[in-house]
Amino acid sequence: MPIYVYGCTSCGDKMDISHQMGENPLTCPVCNSENTLERDYTTSFSLNKKASKGKAPVGQIVRDFIENTKEEVYREKENLLREKYDD
Ligand SMILES: [Zn+2]
Repeated sequence: MPIYVYGCTSCGDKMDISHQMGENPLTCPVCNSENTLERDYTTSFSLNKKASKGKAPVGQIVRDFIENTKEEVYREKENLLREKYDD
């Protein structure tokens, strides 16, 4: 089951809730208030298309992801070059 991050508008708590796709948890497990849970798109790291329809700054998440990938590729390249010249 996928895990979603929810924030409660009543107690302000954040929690991971796993439930089936299409289902929405109605009761806050922390304060037991009903209909106070909202998906927290900023906390979950998701690159799928459905998530991008939400209010999350997906652009920022993608940018971070690309930056990290760039760094990894750069490091990988350096390692390869070093190996080449070591021979
Ligand atoms: Zn709550």
